Formats: sequence, structure tokens, C-alpha cells
Amino acid sequence: MLNRRTFLKTSAASLPLAAAIQTLNPATVSAETIADAAIGGAAPKLIPLPARLAPVDPSILSWQQNIRRVGQSNMTEHDPAVMNIEQWADYWHSAGADIVFISVTGILAFYPSKVQFHRHGKFLNGRDFFGECVVAARKRGMRVVARMSPDLNWGDALEAHPEWAMRDGNGSVLFSGEDPRLFRTCMFTRYMDDYVPAIMREINSLYDVDCFYTNGWPPIGSLPNCHCAVCSKLPPPNTAAYWRTFNDRVVELWHKYDGIAKEKKSDSFYFANLGGNVRCGPNLDRLGKTAVWFQADNQGRTSDDPAVWGCSLQGRVCSAIMDGKFAANVSAAYSTGTVRWRNASKNPAEARMWLNETQASGMALYYHFIGSEAGFGEDRRWQKLGSDYFQWAKKHDAHLKPRRSLANIGVIMGQSTQLLYPAPAGAQAHDYMRETTHGIYATLLNGRFAFDFVHEDRLDLERISKYRALLLPNIAMLSDRQCQQIRDYVRSGGSIMASFETGLYDENLQRREEFAIADLLGISKAGDVIETNGNAYYGRIERSHPILDGFSNTNWLPGAQNRVPVKSVPDPVLTVVPGFVQYPPELAYPPASHTDEPAVVLREVASSRLAYFPGDIERTFWLTGHGDLLRLLQNTIRWITQDEAVVNVDGDGFLEFFAWETTPGYAIHLLNYTNPNAYHGWLSTVYPLGPQTVSMTLPSGVKVRAVDLLRSDRTIPFRLEGAVLRFTIPRVDDYEIAAVTVG
Ligand SMILES: [Zn+2]
Repeated sequence: MLNRRTFLKTSAASLPLAAAIQTLNPATVSAETIADAAIGGAAPKLIPLPARLAPVDPSILSWQQNIRRVGQSNMTEHDPAVMNIEQWADYWHSAGADIVFISVTGILAFYPSKVQFHRHGKFLNGRDFFGECVVAARKRGMRVVARMSPDLNWGDALEAHPEWAMRDGNGSVLFSGEDPRLFRTCMFTRYMDDYVPAIMREINSLYDVDCFYTNGWPPIGSLPNCHCAVCSKLPPPNTAAYWRTFNDRVVELWHKYDGIAKEKKSDSFYFANLGGNVRCGPNLDRLGKTAVWFQADNQGRTSDDPAVWGCSLQGRVCSAIMDGKFAANVSAAYSTGTVRWRNASKNPAEARMWLNETQASGMALYYHFIGSEAGFGEDRRWQKLGSDYFQWAKKHDAHLKPRRSLANIGVIMGQSTQLLYPAPAGAQAHDYMRETTHGIYATLLNGRFAFDFVHEDRLDLERISKYRALLLPNIAMLSDRQCQQIRDYVRSGGSIMASFETGLYDENLQRREEFAIADLLGISKAGDVIETNGNAYYGRIERSHPILDGFSNTNWLPGAQNRVPVKSVPDPVLTVVPGFVQYPPELAYPPASHTDEPAVVLREVASSRLAYFPGDIERTFWLTGHGDLLRLLQNTIRWITQDEAVVNVDGDGFLEFFAWETTPGYAIHLLNYTNPNAYHGWLSTVYPLGPQTVSMTLPSGVKVRAVDLLRSDRTIPFRLEGAVLRFTIPRVDDYEIAAVTVG
């Protein structure tokens, strides 16, 4: 673990973590540790927080903006035979849920639907299960989401409407992979225009619901690949032109359904299932302008996306595009993952961390279980955890609802690159950008930087001028307009760090001959991507520079797996030592020990600092965990930001933090990831962290009244040195929030 100013040395790191932290007091640290601490440099320069936002009149907020807790017992076909509606409603009400999801569906009707092909569940027996649940929820003062699922339907519908089905390249109907009685419906067909609206109108005519939701559509993390009669006339799948057509259709249907929702009540609305974080299917900028509820279906870790921060990452995406509108993350209490159990509870520590991340990253809490066998579940272990958590959060709503992020670094999320970029030939395109994202994310967490995501279509100066630096981790696809916005940002004093193929494709995935921001970065392409041949390339140290702080006793550093060769620059800091075979070892030596090809290009223009790595350094860090790459990236981020910070959190351990301005003051959220299961599997035990000291410079005229720790439920002392506020959180179990009340 690389910390900002201290390393856990081998001797300490071999101890249990809590014991290791105990050893890091001045009396016991080794001389070597002190040397490393010196290399780490001084504390960052604290930049004053911006003037506080004007108060908001709560009466102007829409009802959903006041929702803080969402409950869902996802209903199965069997539930009408087994679920105890009173127990169900009592649980969510006593937990403090503001709203519950109740299934209408579209695959199976949970009420006596008269819509053709809306098949009644086989345990419904003419009963109005949906209606009974709505009454039970309403009686307890809970709002109701009518949940539909338009993605699958049955053979009788297919026989009558063969044109509703998705088809493969041979024209064959696509069926559910798990239950082939169900065919997959195509979003471009009349199914979505006729069948779904008919159900919505039937529900509106029979019941009092607050809003409508569709599960199963639009697709998460990928784009459809359909060859039905309608889709055959569309641009080819997985092209930029197809993505635009797909987005147009999503927005068209969204508005159509929203209009139908409002036919009965003007404050009703429609929302769809979303998620996939930076790899969301529909364009996130357009969604942000369309949706009033972002449903992040991001329920837990999977074996191919195993990092503990998966939920927080989603929260940062929602913050980037929702502009303060409602977002909730669906936290599964059931056993998510590549192998799953829909009706069994997951590890409590893991379920709790997902709720922690939801809360910390600014989303509303949403707790979810599937099926209510034996009344209200054969496995009920999830229930107390959820109600305890909701009840705790309810006491602190004012502090837990964010108003604005205080981060000073923006990470551009290239959604089109995430979805369409082909990646070097030796890599799986689907995984490549995810690995890149996790690489920069882990770098920023390890360095305790305060950062936001910024969508590629939201690079207007007004929005991004708050950031001291923008990071472009292989944002391969950039339009001319986006490049001009980045130039304008740099001209206004901003800094950037970019890597690999950034700007080598336009928004249509057309390859450019030269980097689109070559002028800005001071680079020129010298050839095509060079992939690794066993032993990746090195960067030879040519001269000292702040980005090399902490490196000694070596002439070279690891480079990256792949690189774009660029032309030589004057006075380089690192030059490329080309890669070679790693086997046999007899041949594992460089063909040339010295070249003039830069391995990093650095520029300073007025107060802007610009750094470009020709290699895919963030992804290579994620694949290897190499500490040199981590240090190089963190040093570079500090150099381009001139080591400025808005909030500094100093202490030992691996954590993620969020810093928010809130209505009462500020909230600093610390998520403790110092855990053997941070990168794989589920948390099973918490390893508490020792003291964490928070520093921030208050805007002029702002007085602090109190600093409260919301998880450990105590008030702590604070110090003011001029405008600098400092306080120490003595211990962090899995999660802590320091709530600063001002005024
Ligand atoms: Zn189709």
C-alpha cells in the first residue's frame, strides 16, 4: 500500500493491519520510513472552499427529490401464493422506506390484466395482488412505483406478432438464455409503442400509483445486436451511428412513457433501469436531461468487475449527469455475483458497504431482495440489517443529502470510448476500458485525491472551470468540439493529464492521422500502436523532475503494456527503452538501451501544466498493481494540480472519501477499504482504521458550530487556524461521516 507520506514497511505490513497501524507512531517508525516520508513531500496547499450556495426553498423540490429510502421486495410469480402482504408492508414501513416498488410487470401480470398477451401469473387465480399491495403501502403512507418489465414475452405473443422479436444474423428469434419459453422483444418494434403503453394506461385507470418504471430495458453496459426487419434498416450494430439511433429511440420512448404516466397525475413520471456506470448503454448526457430518477441497477460485485468501489463509481457517474436530481442505487441484500442466489442473504459486511457507498457517493438508499417465500422470505437475515441502516440514516437526512461536490479534479468519462473503442488487438475490447477506469480510480483513491467524473458531452467551461485539472485516461474518441473545449479550459488556466490514444479517434470512431490535441500536449504521432512482446517497454530517467519524486537507485521505470510512439521532444524526462521478449531469458534484454522517443511529455503554459503518457499506463497499473506506476501517476497528478487540494484527509489505510457541501454545512465521508477483500470477493470482517485528520479552508465569514461523527454518534473537537478547519476522526470502522455544521 502506497500512502501519501508513509509506507507500511514490510515488517509492519506483515502484521495484522490494526497492529501495523499501531506501530506507525513516531517512537517506533524506522529510519527508512522517515526517509520515505521525506520523499513524499509537504502537505498539499489547501485552496479555500467556494462561497456557500444560497439556501433552497424545500417547497420547490419535486416529491421524488425528498425521497431518501427506497424498498423493494421484487415479486416472483409464486409470491401471490406465499407472500404475506401485511408483513411485507409492515417491514418496509417500519424500516422507514419512503417508497416501495410493486410489480405490475409485462412478463406476468400481478393483477387481472385485460391487455392481450399480458399473461396472468399461474398463482394469481384472478386475485388483484398488485392492488392489494398498493392499498397496504398507501395505508402506511408509503409511495408506490409501478414496476414493469418489457424485455421478454411468451410464445402466444410471438405467434401473433413475430415482428416483436429480436433476431440474430440468420433471422432466428432470440430467446431468454435461462428460460427459452420467453422470447426477447425488440425495442425498435411496435411492442414498445403498443403493448407497454396499454399496460401503463390500464394501471392508471385502475390504481393510484406515483410513477412508472421499466426493468430490463434499456440494456445495461452494452448495445443491442438485433437483425429483425426494423433493425436491419438501422446502421450496423456497435457503430457510432447505431449508438445515436439507439439513443434517439430510448429518449423517444422515455418521453412517450413519461407522457402516459402524466395522463393521470402531472407529478407522475416514468423512469427506466440504468446502470453500468461509465459504460451505461444510453448516452448519459441525454439521460441526465431526460430522467428525473436515475435507477442505478448496480447491485453488487461480480467476478469480472470485482473492486469494492463499484457502487461509489456509479454514484460519481450519477453526480456528473443528474445536476442534483434524484438518483438511487439498487443495493442487493440477496447474493449477487457471477454465481448467485436470489433468495439468500449476502455477507452483512458486504451489503452494508454497498449501502455505505450509495450514501457516501450522494445517491439515495435503496435496499432490494427477491421473492417472499414462506410469508416474507425463507432467509430473513437481510431484514434487520436493512431496517437498522435505514433507521440510522433517517436521523441524519439533512447531513446526508449532498448539495455539491467539493472535488478539484475532474476525470473525463469517455462514454463513447467505453462503448465503441476497439482497443489494441491483443486485448478484449469489452474489458479494456473497464480496466482503464479502475486503474485511474484506484490511483486516485490511493492518493486520496478529491475527484468527480465529467461526461465528455459536458465540457463547457462553466461546468469544468471548478477543476484544477482534468484527467483523460485513454479518452480515444473526442470530437473537434470537445477538443476545442479542452483547449479553452487550458487557456483559462486548467491543467490536464492524458494517456495513450486520447483524441486519436473522432466521435464517429474515424481514426485521425494525428492526435486531436497534439498542439496542446506538444506531441506528434510517430507511428501506430506498439503492443507488448512479452516484456513491456521501460521509461529511462533522463533528468530529475517532480513527477519522479521518490525514485532513486534506478535508471529506468516500468512503462506500460502498449504505447503510441511519439516524436522526440527537447529535454525529455523519460525516454522509451523498447520492449522485448520475456522468454527465453537469454533474449530478455533491450534491443536498444537508449532512444529519443519520449515516455512522457510535459509542458507548462502560464499556470497550466500538461502531461501526456504515450502508454496505457492507468490500465497497466490496474493489471499489475505496480507501485512505480502508481507513484508516477500520483506524482504527475500532484504536479499538474500544483499540489492544490480542497480537502485533505491524512492518515493511514486505504479508503475512499467524498467531500460535500450540505444544507447544514459540509459532510466528509470516509469508506474504509483496508480489507483483504477490497479487490475480490465480499467483505466479511471490518479492519478498523486509526486516526484520520481532515483539513479544509473555509470560505470567508463561515463559522463552525460543531463537528459530529454520524456513524459513531459523537461530537468531536475541532481547531481553527485562521480559516483552516482541522479535526481528527479517531477511528473508522467500515464507514464514518464527519458532519460539519456551520452558521
Ligand atoms: Zn430489432
